Amino acid sequence: MLVLRQSRLFQRCSRYGNYVALDANCLFCKIITGDFPAQIIYRSENVVAFNDIDPQAPTHVLIVPTLHVENAAGLAKMSPTLTADLFVAAGQIAATHGLTGYRTVFNTGAEAGQSVFHAHLHLLGGRGLAWPPG
Ligand code: AMP
Ligand code: ZN
Repeated sequence: MLVLRQSRLFQRCSRYGNYVALDANCLFCKIITGDFPAQIIYRSENVVAFNDIDPQAPTHVLIVPTLHVENAAGLAKMSPTLTADLFVAAGQIAATHGLTGYRTVFNTGAEAGQSVFHAHLHLLGGRGLAWPPG
């Protein structure tokens, strides 16, 4: 795993000690650093959010931590605070979109549909959402 040492994000995230800040081969790390284009709609010190390229609802936003960790469990183990930051961002983004109800989802593992192995919280809303999910 490579670390993008030139990135100011690495400087910011290096306080996480043993954890790799960013992975040069990861699509979402590239979006965080601006090395891959995305419609970024929210950015704070620890969180970036952008529109999903293949939206499954009128609002479909991906909310990601600004450091590379594979999945939600890994993120929660590393930083409960950063995990919570994703949900706080989800609430703010939902309010911005005028959503009174919405769904937040972490897919973990290929069997559950995870295709990008950088933890990301899906925020879905703007239409009725069935339960159970497919
Ligand atoms: P998951 O399947 O849970 O890993 O979610 C990955 C999500 O990333 C999918 O909903 C994809 O549509 C989305 N995605 C893949 N590539 C991009 C991209 N370049 N920009 C925005 N979203 C993307
Ligand atoms: Zn990454």
